[in-house]
Amino acid sequence: MRIEVLIKGFVEMKKSALQRVARCQSEGLCLSCLESLGDCRPIRGCHPRCAHATYRAIRAGMLTDEDQVASGEWLPALPGGRPPEVAVSKKARGVG
Ligand SMILES: [Zn+2]
Repeated sequence: MRIEVLIKGFVEMKKSALQRVARCQSEGLCLSCLESLGDCRPIRGCHPRCAHATYRAIRAGMLTDEDQVASGEWLPALPGGRPPEVAVSKKARGVG
């Protein structure tokens, strides 16, 4: 039985990738296709259709999550769940 796990790690982003992310976020563009996000709710900085296509490509082994983040074509995954309420949880997430 295969179980999917998330492993925390770090990727090195080139200056051009950081500039791509900054430009897209300031102009409201999708990190993947560079078209306007409009009023859609982005997933990891991308249109839902672009994010789902990226997930499919990662599952198929054609791309890696780390490479996509490093190239500035989508944002790192954020921890899910409710916002932290307890002080140590806020500290762990770098909030408050
Ligand atoms: Zn897109």
